[in-house]
Amino acid sequence: MNTTSEFWDKSAEDLSREDLEALQLSRLQSTLERVMRSPFYSRRFAETGFRPDAVTHMSDARSIPFTTKQDLRDSFPYGLLCEPRDRLARMHASSGTTGQSVAIFYTKTDLQTWADLVARCMYMTGARPGDTFQNLSGYGLFTGGLGFQYGAERLGMLTIPAGAGNSKRQIQLMRDFSTNVIHIIPSFALLLMDVFKEQGVDPREDLSLKIAFIGAEPYSEEVRKRLEDFYGIKVYNSYGLSEMNGPGVGFECPQQNGMHIWEDSYMVEIVDPKTLEPVPDGQYGELVMTTLRREAMPIVRYRTKDLTRILPGPCPCGRVHRRIDRIQGRSDDMFIIKGVNVFPIQVEQVLMNIPEVGNNYVIVLRRENNIDDMIVRVEVTDRIFVEDMRLLHRLQQRIARDLKSELLLTPKVELAEPNSLPKSEGKAVRLLDQRKL
Ligand code: AMP
Ligand code: ZN
Repeated sequence: MNTTSEFWDKSAEDLSREDLEALQLSRLQSTLERVMRSPFYSRRFAETGFRPDAVTHMSDARSIPFTTKQDLRDSFPYGLLCEPRDRLARMHASSGTTGQSVAIFYTKTDLQTWADLVARCMYMTGARPGDTFQNLSGYGLFTGGLGFQYGAERLGMLTIPAGAGNSKRQIQLMRDFSTNVIHIIPSFALLLMDVFKEQGVDPREDLSLKIAFIGAEPYSEEVRKRLEDFYGIKVYNSYGLSEMNGPGVGFECPQQNGMHIWEDSYMVEIVDPKTLEPVPDGQYGELVMTTLRREAMPIVRYRTKDLTRILPGPCPCGRVHRRIDRIQGRSDDMFIIKGVNVFPIQVEQVLMNIPEVGNNYVIVLRRENNIDDMIVRVEVTDRIFVEDMRLLHRLQQRIARDLKSELLLTPKVELAEPNSLPKSEGKAVRLLDQRKL
């Protein structure tokens, strides 16, 4: 591979929109032929009267039936397989934060294609052979472990498969091996800041970090700012889901403005979650994705439940692959309190703009005497004196006021001491809805 080039895979990254769409169409057509091998799709297509040969133009994709997570659960574990069992090389499972998990299978070729996509993403941000990559993500069934591991090896970096947790050891590894590229989920990156402070290690002074890939859960632009300032790094948003392999689906380029979806490998659509009709670029809706290169378990028009929009217009980096905006949250995460629709990320945006607010928070919804209450529990930074009641009271009022102007309702704000709220090793649990209990 030519390490001075701007592109990892010039033929896939640097092509005209016209050529990209022609490639997409032929890959979509062969995917539709292929999925007919699976019990699930042959039945679904027969039931709905959909014929793969009806797709002769990309706009015909709108007639393909959708696939939902429930479909994957109902046909667990092998209902979507398009290859015999002896051609399978690996399985992964979704994190199951929202119910029973689903199983995803890969052939050897699928694993290679995936590793190459992840390498393409990382290379785009400036990671190069010779860099030292530490993966602070959970391994095992979660795709963020092995997905990044194989991608980083493919790119040619020295890899440190550190795994999640073990904060002090992580810092030691970063020092010992001059780690300069990391992958980490946002909630862990925030928690780790406190450990750095406790250890008296200043990442800007004492480490060699330059690039971080951060994703797997929603986070706000404010959190990106905090992390970039503290660690002295560039943070690139990374989006993926097990159903579409895992990481490598959407990734930010050096512009840090929206995540390019690799459209030679995935077809991307945004639909109105109620009508399921496509919405114009720029408008928010549910992300729907189709694998275009998968052998073992291709999935078509998958309703991800993730809410985002296509960013209109070309990216200054020159890649024609369209970009999606930061994920607002999953449609399942939105909660309704006193008639107001709220996404946890809106709360985060407000909190992380207040310097005295620490890096961990949780939203609790309660119902007492038929009245709903929203409580926002936030850790304060260790810079403020927990003994100073007046100061704390003023901070509490400011948080409540700022939240009110964003959400149009006044939550109760509870301040907590640094490091006192529960931490989780995997994806953070930011919302406790105790109304359903
Ligand atoms: P899993 O398949 O268990 O890894 O979970 C995938 C889900 O994680 C996606 O459907 C999103 O809801 C969430 N997710 C992954 N990456 C991001 C990201 N960069 N921003 C927001 N949410 C993300
Ligand atoms: Zn770009």
